[in-house]
Amino acid sequence: MSNVTQLRCINCSRTYQPRPGFYTCPVCGSTDGILDVEYDYDYINKYISKESLAGNREPSMWRYRPFLPVAQEGPLPPLRVGWSPLYRADRLGAELGLKELYIKDDGINPTASLKDRPSAVAVARAMAEGAGVVACSSTGNAASSLAGAAASVGLKAVIFVPGRAPQGKVAQLLIFGATVISVQGSYEDAFRLSAAAIEEHGWYNRNAAINPYLVEGKKTACLEVAEQLHWEVPDWVVLSVGDGCTMAGAWKAWVDLKKAGWIEKLPRMLGVQAEGCCPITRAFREGTRVRPMEENTLADSIAVGVPRNPEKALRAVRDSRGTMINVSDEEILAAMRVLGRTSGVFGEPAGVAGTAGLIKAVREGIIKPEERVVVLVTGNGLKDVANAIKAAGEPIRVAPSLEALHKALGDLKLPNYGWGYVPEPRLAERR
Ligand SMILES: *Cc1c(COP(=O)(O)O)cnc(C)c1O
Ligand SMILES: [Zn+2]
Repeated sequence: MSNVTQLRCINCSRTYQPRPGFYTCPVCGSTDGILDVEYDYDYINKYISKESLAGNREPSMWRYRPFLPVAQEGPLPPLRVGWSPLYRADRLGAELGLKELYIKDDGINPTASLKDRPSAVAVARAMAEGAGVVACSSTGNAASSLAGAAASVGLKAVIFVPGRAPQGKVAQLLIFGATVISVQGSYEDAFRLSAAAIEEHGWYNRNAAINPYLVEGKKTACLEVAEQLHWEVPDWVVLSVGDGCTMAGAWKAWVDLKKAGWIEKLPRMLGVQAEGCCPITRAFREGTRVRPMEENTLADSIAVGVPRNPEKALRAVRDSRGTMINVSDEEILAAMRVLGRTSGVFGEPAGVAGTAGLIKAVREGIIKPEERVVVLVTGNGLKDVANAIKAAGEPIRVAPSLEALHKALGDLKLPNYGWGYVPEPRLAERR
């Protein structure tokens, strides 16, 4: 890792050299002493440039390997993670009154969420460190992505999920052959139990806030956005916030690109939480430290009552001159419908919470019509079909006869398109 210079504690600024099994600042402890990975940008610029990327056909996050805290040579997990599409969402933009809106659909990843990015880094590092078992606690997606990446290289995965994790995600874990511990309690309970078990057994720790390398994997989503927008920085990047690692990672991408001299300006970050579980928004508004909250939302992936990386997330939002906003479960379900109907993108509740926040932020005048906005969809809707049905309702049930169909369709007024019908373009993919 000649590209990494050191790890710096975000609390006391002490610096450390990376070494196996070392994740948090020993002086500040594992809650406050979150570390940040620092790079040698001259080194990075020797190995990668806008021009080299333009000719690089690697369709995954590893196209940014010099920006990542992994060995610069040697094996990587084989699943194709990242390089997800950035869609220009003109129909949704028009509904919201936005001139230039883009959707980054990270639901297309191998296990269908953005978490595949940090998990790929975790498994690459676990392989390099010779670990035999990787472990994490997760609201679901970190778990399924870790289990998938581990399976792809023959590593054993031990996963702790809260009892409420949706079936789709649990099914993924079991299919990938992970050892799944369903903790009958909250995410916080699952996190604590996993931390104790990891300590006891010496497994490779994939808990995102504790392990400073994982945020770096998350940043590839926004490295991609920058490249997909031809290095024209958006005014706003909007995403949902649970533990806060995705926000921290997304912001780190822009900071790294600026420090490396690739971009001039920085976007503003809009973080979105669920009303029923919003400890980070509350801390942001009150200017206080994060205090625990109930986990009371159907957006399970961001139902994090005791966030593990609030400081990095809060700094990201503040440093970017951005803000935090809350959305209700009803607004999340409505956003699922609007996003699906206008763009053909199907997100899970936490995956579209960003879109719900965007809708609200435009309505409240936080985001202006002429501003250029990117919203991340962080997880696929098929992971949580029960809530999708709650959002979308039931199909039209008919007996198998034309008569019954005519009757049922009677007042629906569907257009009678023939063969010559050319649908209007819904989404123009930027590249
Ligand atoms: C994990 C997750 C988030 C939030 O990321 P944090 O790092 O916990 O803030 C958002 N959406 C989905 C789908 C997720 O799985
Ligand atoms: Zn410290």
